[in-house]
Amino acid sequence: MIQIKQVSKSFGHVNVLKDIHLEVPESHIYALIGPSGAGKSTLIRSINALESIQAGEILVDGISVHDSKTDINKVRSNIGFVFQSFNLYPHLTAVENVAIAPIQVKKVAKEEAEEKAKKLLTSLGLGDKFASYPGQLSGGQQQRVAIARALAMDPKVMLFDEPTSALDPEMIKEVLDAIRHLASTGMTMVVVTHEMGFAREICNQIVFMADGRIVEVAPPEQFFTNPQTDRAKDFLSKVL
Ligand code: ATP
Ligand code: MG
Repeated sequence: MIQIKQVSKSFGHVNVLKDIHLEVPESHIYALIGPSGAGKSTLIRSINALESIQAGEILVDGISVHDSKTDINKVRSNIGFVFQSFNLYPHLTAVENVAIAPIQVKKVAKEEAEEKAKKLLTSLGLGDKFASYPGQLSGGQQQRVAIARALAMDPKVMLFDEPTSALDPEMIKEVLDAIRHLASTGMTMVVVTHEMGFAREICNQIVFMADGRIVEVAPPEQFFTNPQTDRAKDFLSKVL
């Protein structure tokens, strides 16, 4: 479970997160949507301590992420993060990309880590790509390797920041299917997405952000059919 309590953040004088309060219960999937510059990436990156915060607290599984006494590497091994750009190691094969963190960070034996990597890749439809290098894979395949890489650390939560926005349309579905599959396993997830159909279909709650604030939180049916604020209505009129 993720608890975000009264979080504020500024870049210099610009306040980009304003008093954010949100709880994502175990096994729930929350979509983070909103206009460009709303603070979606900053918020999701804060959950993983990739961004510092100036006020408030974020707890993942009860552990305070920004507390200086917290071992951040331990926290990060509990949180899988998938970005828009896949950031795979170009000189490593798919299996090696997935196995490297368990080997280096968790000191898992190479054979064991690679066995598990193969299982994960197979479950993501990449059973025939074990030995391929990122340059030999399509964008959708690379993104699925990135998801496998995150899952290899046995995270308690998964964070996605626009996982499909760098992909060609025909590859979006295979990545969304992978996230759908994860949803069916009960993974707790926060997904920043512009895929409104996807958000509507699999997410428990839609979190609509604008100008550094959470403006609305509602179940998809309610949010998409009956948004409560003018800001959300305006946004939806542009994206639907
Ligand atoms: P998008 O949909 O375009 O990805 P977003 O909702 O993810 O937008 P953020 O990237 O979180 O928005 O940015 C929120 C605000 O913080 C923006 O005004 C942005 O310019 C600013 N910002 C983000 N990162 C930095 C940074 N490293 N330094 C200074 N300002 C930043
Ligand atoms: Mg962003």
